[in-house]
Amino acid sequence: MSGGSRAEIVVDLDAIGHNVSTLRALTGVAMITVVKADAYGHGMLPVARAARAAGAEWLAVATLDEVRRLRAAGDTGRLLTWLTVPDEQYDHAIRADVDLTAYSVAELDEIAAAATHVGAPARVQLKVDTGLSRGGAARADWEPFLARARAGEQAGQWKVTGIWSHFACADEPAHPANDAQQAAFDDALALADDIGLTPEIRHLANSAAAILRPQSRYDAVRVGLATYGLDPAPGVDHGTDLRVAMTVRAELALVKQLEAGDAVSYGHTWTAPERTTIGLVPAGYAEGVPVAGSNRLEVTVDGKRRPVRGRVCMDQVLVDLGGDTPPEGSEVVLFGPPGGGRATAQDWAEACGTINYEIVTRIGGRMTRRYTGATS
Ligand SMILES: *Cc1c(COP(=O)(O)O)cnc(C)c1O
Repeated sequence: MSGGSRAEIVVDLDAIGHNVSTLRALTGVAMITVVKADAYGHGMLPVARAARAAGAEWLAVATLDEVRRLRAAGDTGRLLTWLTVPDEQYDHAIRADVDLTAYSVAELDEIAAAATHVGAPARVQLKVDTGLSRGGAARADWEPFLARARAGEQAGQWKVTGIWSHFACADEPAHPANDAQQAAFDDALALADDIGLTPEIRHLANSAAAILRPQSRYDAVRVGLATYGLDPAPGVDHGTDLRVAMTVRAELALVKQLEAGDAVSYGHTWTAPERTTIGLVPAGYAEGVPVAGSNRLEVTVDGKRRPVRGRVCMDQVLVDLGGDTPPEGSEVVLFGPPGGGRATAQDWAEACGTINYEIVTRIGGRMTRRYTGATS
């Protein structure tokens, strides 16, 4: 690579665009592309632009800070956010024309006060908890929550633009929680209807449900992981044509000989059983390479799979070159799209006992990001 970059994340924006349009065509409903957490490590602003260009009607983020960054960068489309905290400053969000999510009457009261202060109605979506037991109004609170939302709408404090919920087990299509949650969601929708609410969009599905559970698509789907080309339900055969967007690469910083019996890295957790060569890769746990991947991860060096040896360090990891001596500066792909011998984020997740979401979202640190593709 040029410019002396130590290690970099290369994001293919054409892959993002392809995935957004493929999933939009597959689901046939409005696409809410989830770009929280810096677009799962891919970089929020370029991903947001690519998703909009590919037809995403909505973007979604978790926090109002993410809202501010998107609006400051010039995004003017529909934008949903869902994780506010007590005493959140809603004035900016109301002026920024964002669709807020409320979980409780107390939150609606805060939004009402801000709308009065700003002198303009907010847009509010209502989240009902159907069994994830995370955010959203618990079933026992649905009636007062929905009634408060209706009253605020009649008082001009907001327009209720959506009702939604979130699955716990969508990556396991046969899990009974899916049917139970969807039945509960339908109950909430019926109650909202009785109360006189007429939301613009009703939505329940994340990536896995959007792909695997057509009856859960309603008016829109909230798709995060699949946008990035990663499989939200590894091991479930669905054949969706997704393209992996992220490649993480570096250059070998050093190649040297090890003798049989030489031990490697902190704690000497690996000892060379025979003479070999070892390569130094300048990325470590500060870049999001999990320590849990010590002696377990594999990377490719010049297209050839190589095992990580010894403990992952803060700034670097060591790979076994098996006696070969590729030149320093040779390309190391930590993970990327399947094919070409490369390890994938899914391979890394399995090696580390985690999920592909965590691998891509945590990768970064001092790495630079570079974008390829027509929309970059
Ligand atoms: C993160 C998130 C999503 C996206 O989930 P994926 O599995 O990445 O598609 C959707 N909805 C909510 C509420 C989320 O927090």
